[in-house]
Amino acid sequence: MTPNSDPTVQPVPASVVHQVDAADTTLQNPQQAVIALGSNVGNRLERLQSAVDALADTPGLAVKAVSPVYETEPWGVEPGSQSSYFNAVVLVRTTLPPGSLLERGHAIEEALERVRDERWGPRTIDVDIVAYQGVVSDDPRLTLPHPRVHERAFVLVPWHDVDPGAEVPGRGAVAELLAGLGNEGVAPRTDLELSLPE
Ligand code: ATP
Ligand code: CA
Ligand code: CA
Repeated sequence: MTPNSDPTVQPVPASVVHQVDAADTTLQNPQQAVIALGSNVGNRLERLQSAVDALADTPGLAVKAVSPVYETEPWGVEPGSQSSYFNAVVLVRTTLPPGSLLERGHAIEEALERVRDERWGPRTIDVDIVAYQGVVSDDPRLTLPHPRVHERAFVLVPWHDVDPGAEVPGRGAVAELLAGLGNEGVAPRTDLELSLPE
């Protein structure tokens, strides 16, 4: 019997190539990602809003939720050595693969005049990829989930606001991590609000 002699099998024209690779899968299935924003130089609220607007303007990316704004103590540096931060978390759905999402984050930092000199130094804006779907990767260029997120109430608190059932892939529920950490140094700024672009 030749391959096409079975009448239930429709012959496929030779010119049609069916190939499903990772990129196709991503294009057809937007993935959820969690992005953390921080600013401690200049007009912090304006910088956070500009970053949200730039994310919303990104082809292949839709902003699904924007958290409340928190004023937080700088993390990992000598107390009192830096101004306080404004932090927020943005939930997105995107067809961009993780590396392209990171590149977009870096482009937004550049557009908002971020200067990189010292580690954890002051910055007009920081755009971190906190999580990308359930992806776990130890690539130093893009570690997923973000390697320090489970220790950072300033990210977990706003993330919990926009997604109370969220999990840090490989680390557990955000709510449980927060219960262990507490939210000291993370103050809600209920007088301020970021807007979700139309
Ligand atoms: P931290 O990573 O502790 O939040 P930071 O945000 O100040 O510190 P940056 O100077 O902004 O650190 O970034 C240093 C490098 O971290 C970036 O060039 C980037 O390639 C890498 N990186 C690794 N994983 C991630 C991630 N999940 N999100 C953003 N950057 C990451
Ligand atoms: Ca950071
Ligand atoms: Ca960063």
